[in-house]
Amino acid sequence: MKIIPLGIWGGYPKANGATSSFLIEHNGFHCLIDCGSGVLASLQNYLPLDQLDAVVLSHYHADHIADIGSLQYSRLIQFYLGEQAPVLPIYGHVYDEEEFAKLTYKEQTIGVGITESDVLSIGPFTVSFCRTVHPVYCLAMKFEADGRSIVLTADTEWCDDLVPFATGADLLISEANLYEEHVGKAPGHMGGSEAGKLAEQAKVKHLVLTHLPHHGDVRDILAAASSTYSGHVEIAEVGKKYLS
Ligand SMILES: [Zn+2]
Repeated sequence: MKIIPLGIWGGYPKANGATSSFLIEHNGFHCLIDCGSGVLASLQNYLPLDQLDAVVLSHYHADHIADIGSLQYSRLIQFYLGEQAPVLPIYGHVYDEEEFAKLTYKEQTIGVGITESDVLSIGPFTVSFCRTVHPVYCLAMKFEADGRSIVLTADTEWCDDLVPFATGADLLISEANLYEEHVGKAPGHMGGSEAGKLAEQAKVKHLVLTHLPHHGDVRDILAAASSTYSGHVEIAEVGKKYLS
């Protein structure tokens, strides 16, 4: 498995950036994980849009879905040009009917409902989920293939259930949206120390931090994660290929 960060920001993108999103690939199958603001522009640096095979969404906050409409338009324009790509499945939870309905668009994309108890086969991946603690229903995800695993926390404040869910992962991609002075004061997100604690308790092999804040110095978040996690931790780097 190979996973590439397409964006690393929470809320909105910095100039020429994108919000937290990833492209995961294995055996030639390409799956987009979340599709927020700036993601469609970033994605094209790594993959022609018509070669995308699936999309999985953690939740329906705008910084995770803002570019879904643009993605659907790209498929429609390909169709007008006579270059019809296969119908693109977009996996999203079913607990917000209005948002879920938007995942199906003409003959171009189709919404596929998911819940936290599902275990799905998406291309070469086995994908499972864990509900997080966030102001709206949100799912962490685990992608497994060929005996390796990558876990993404999506958006969450500290969540006990994520420890067993992430245990033994080869790579944990954790949100770390808060500086330590804000931990516990901003609902729905974690600080670096909590991301590190999750990685330590789950005994993951590698920790990558994402969904970062725009203010301050994110090296402070990295330092906080290093204070609670004894393994290798880094800030997600857009375009870097993380291998599992
Ligand atoms: Zn969110």
